[in-house]
Amino acid sequence: MYNLVIGGQAASTASRFPVMNPASGEVVAEAPNASAEDLDRAVAAAAAAFRELSARPEEERRKLCEAMADKLEQHAEELAQLLTREQGKPLNGLGSRWELGAAVAWARHTCTLSLPVKTIQSDNRGTVELHRKPLGVVGSITPWNFPILIAVWHVFPAVLTGNTVVIKPSPYTPLATLRFVELMNEVLPPGVMNSLSGDDRSTNLGALMSAHPDIRKIVFTGSSETGKKVAASASATMKRLTLELGGNDAGIVLPDVDPKAIAEGVFWGAFINNGQTCAAIKRLYVHEDVYDAVCEELVNYARTVSVGDGTDEASALGPMQNRMQFDKVARLVADARTRGRVLIGGEPGEGLFFPPTIIADLDDGMPLVDEEQFGPALPIIRYRDVDDAIARANNSPWGLGGSIWAKDIDRARGLALRLETGSAWVNKHVAIQPDAPFGGVKGSGLGTEFGEEGLQEYTDIQVLSY
Ligand code: NAD
Repeated sequence: MYNLVIGGQAASTASRFPVMNPASGEVVAEAPNASAEDLDRAVAAAAAAFRELSARPEEERRKLCEAMADKLEQHAEELAQLLTREQGKPLNGLGSRWELGAAVAWARHTCTLSLPVKTIQSDNRGTVELHRKPLGVVGSITPWNFPILIAVWHVFPAVLTGNTVVIKPSPYTPLATLRFVELMNEVLPPGVMNSLSGDDRSTNLGALMSAHPDIRKIVFTGSSETGKKVAASASATMKRLTLELGGNDAGIVLPDVDPKAIAEGVFWGAFINNGQTCAAIKRLYVHEDVYDAVCEELVNYARTVSVGDGTDEASALGPMQNRMQFDKVARLVADARTRGRVLIGGEPGEGLFFPPTIIADLDDGMPLVDEEQFGPALPIIRYRDVDDAIARANNSPWGLGGSIWAKDIDRARGLALRLETGSAWVNKHVAIQPDAPFGGVKGSGLGTEFGEEGLQEYTDIQVLSY
């Protein structure tokens, strides 16, 4: 039985909603459907806990975070199994066990960070110090693609800096997060971390959180459309915001590549988590000199990838997570089939299974190229002039990540720096790591996560002068 945790206590709700296994369509469990009153209680519990947590020295909070990381690691397999059942991703490959491994790595790294007092001036005129102060109650709103990893990205820096948290997972994938919060509460003082799940229909908890007067910050990972709503409703209370939103990342393949050597990296750069990844390659520009060979090698690699129920240890990709996203991908692929050349896939499978689909000979201005598909369908675009390819990559309302694939690393580095993106990679994509700041430019978001820069976002500055 899955419950909310409010003020350290398990809390039930009057109504519940079903969470489906995307591989089978069966109900995994019923999740609590929290009300506006539950939200108020969770915020009040977090506000009460904030007074005590924020008064503790950083070293004590670090110990709490280390205990959280230990709990997470001890229960990694349990959480991975649950994640596969509600999210659909395979246990193996870049699936649930990978997600839990990454979550532990992020948690551990965050535990090593610190924001010491910075002395700006210390002389006979006086002393000026910069202090970093926690904000208060942080509202964390997470999506359905990497529920545990993203929860860890939100809550560890929040607690380390002395904030308390109310976390709300996506209605598609609430279970692993509810269990995660239960586990964290085994080592945290009551009220430091509270969970709310809801179906988004009876009560839109995310909207209420964004407007709540006693929540001081929202850290949101999700679609650009919802992110804009969060920003609009947060403005009335001047909340701090970190928004990690959508993207339409380009990969650009230069003519000097060895097509076979890059195929695996490009494939997983695009198809990680079935393409349901914010910073995956969503359009691939390939130079005409290597176009046919790159297409062929990508298809050769795609043929080796097994798609099946995520609980099958042999599956490298599972089903898509939900019908809404499946229908979007099906629509974009159906349109792209009429315009380009299907190299592999192209037909929706049974249930929510959609085979890895690669469609060549597409161009900018076509929906599969211009829209964020967020699914297992990669459009390939031929180019002749690399400056033109960079311009096309940058001609986007988004700016999350981008990559250059080349043998000549110096040249690739120079080109990567011309991408208007928060992250730019050479011969890799979505290569995020806990010590490197990550965030979007343009419509892909606001603010930064990870590393010291990410930690700072959970604080306000106070300058002390004496
Ligand atoms: P979504 O925006 O539909 O939902 C995200 C969360 O917002 C969910 O918890 C949802 O319940 C909540 N929500 C719904 N309405 C709300 C409202 N009015 N106010 C506040 N919160 C509300 O996104 P999704 O479909 O879960 O995720 C897919 C999208 O997320 C993709 O566009 C993807 O690119 C993006 N994403 C971005 C990153 C990143 O780090 N940049 C990571 C993962 C996903």
